[in-house]
Amino acid sequence: MLAKITFLGATGTVTGSKYLFEACGKKLLIDCGLFQGLKELRLRNWDAFSVNPAEIDAVILTHAHIDHCGYLPRLTRQGFKGPVYCTHATQAFCELLLRDSAHLQEEDARWANKKGFSKHKPALPLYTTQDVESCLQQFTPRHYGEDINLCEGMRLKFRDAGHILGSAFADIKITRGNTIRKILFSGDIGSPNRPILNDPVQVYEVDYLIVESTYGDRLHGDSQSAREHDLARVINDNITRGGILVIPAFAVGRTQELLYHIRELENRGAVPPLPIYIDSPMAINATAITAKMQNDYDLQARMLMLDGQEILKPANLHIARSVEESKALHAVKGPAIFISASGMLEGGRILHHLQERLPKAENTVLFVGYQAEGTRGRALQGGNTEVKIHGQMVPVKAHIETISGFSGHADYREILAWLMGFNRPPKQTFIVHGEPDASRAMGEKIQKQLDWPVTIPKHGQSFELN
Ligand SMILES: [Zn+2]
Ligand SMILES: [Zn+2]
Repeated sequence: MLAKITFLGATGTVTGSKYLFEACGKKLLIDCGLFQGLKELRLRNWDAFSVNPAEIDAVILTHAHIDHCGYLPRLTRQGFKGPVYCTHATQAFCELLLRDSAHLQEEDARWANKKGFSKHKPALPLYTTQDVESCLQQFTPRHYGEDINLCEGMRLKFRDAGHILGSAFADIKITRGNTIRKILFSGDIGSPNRPILNDPVQVYEVDYLIVESTYGDRLHGDSQSAREHDLARVINDNITRGGILVIPAFAVGRTQELLYHIRELENRGAVPPLPIYIDSPMAINATAITAKMQNDYDLQARMLMLDGQEILKPANLHIARSVEESKALHAVKGPAIFISASGMLEGGRILHHLQERLPKAENTVLFVGYQAEGTRGRALQGGNTEVKIHGQMVPVKAHIETISGFSGHADYREILAWLMGFNRPPKQTFIVHGEPDASRAMGEKIQKQLDWPVTIPKHGQSFELN
């Protein structure tokens, strides 16, 4: 046996990505994500970790989304002392996202104690701000393409996955005597032709592939120009009604992409320059980080910069950093656009805006990202006529719109096209990071189209790699 892989998350779900990879006497954890969404999944975050965290030699992060890095402070809290390898942009975004995550955990525990609805007395957070600060000390950022020696005979390389800035495929190469094996963890694969981001890098030689399948049974359908057209329509319809267009968006990635698109639409005269408010300190900070990471931009964004364009600045952009500034937005009269977090309506300032704006028909809520099962976002998308926010039922009168093509994930056609570029079939392809139907569909398509052997691993299942 050359290596062993154990699936500790992202099986039958898009959350909780965690793969234990054992080789050359080392224990590595590829991604260290938090389970989110359904309660039965969230409870897994509290289970004892299946290996002693003190025995894990290193963690490798594919990108900074919480479903890929949000368990890390818990791992550190339980004794993990090794390095955390990731790209520089991933490190910068993790600082933001993990601090925010600890804050949310602490808030949840405080809330549970106040209301007395926790089984644990007192309710404890999954991890604290202090745990996050110590785990941030373990970060060891690396550039794309750099050789990272994990031990004699095993090297790691990050390759641009085009999903969010800093996102990477973890490309592991094991050399033992004359035997060379390459194992590729896709993390989340970006959709091609997105603003700011590079297309996912083509890889060629892979023996074992671990590939995501979020959109394994769906197509984005529309081209980027069609999506911009849709966005213009939603913005202009909302102007006609004089409402507030509330866009829940992940602070990292989606917010910046929206700013880019809106600026483009304004430049072309497709929408008038409306007041746009970013109401999320994290999104404001993520936008500032994005503005600095120009060497990770795609060529088109870099060329716009050469022409003197500020690619993330629509004409009438405002930010609400403090709580007072956020509250003041309740008095804002439409038409205007609010961009706020969290993207799936699981917490954050967006909830206050929904409470205020959902009951009025002139307003619009626009989804531009994937809404996982069990989230409020999914409930609204599914046409619920009321949703519970802060313990109160809020009637839904506002227009609910979805533009799915904005997803940061490649759809199955884009993934198949990427796989077609491999020089040879992998010995085994493991399908992960999808709801069950999506993973199954992705597996069937890979078998049918490419005739590759595929496996859909179950939670906790291990496989020997030879
Ligand atoms: Zn992601
Ligand atoms: Zn993910």
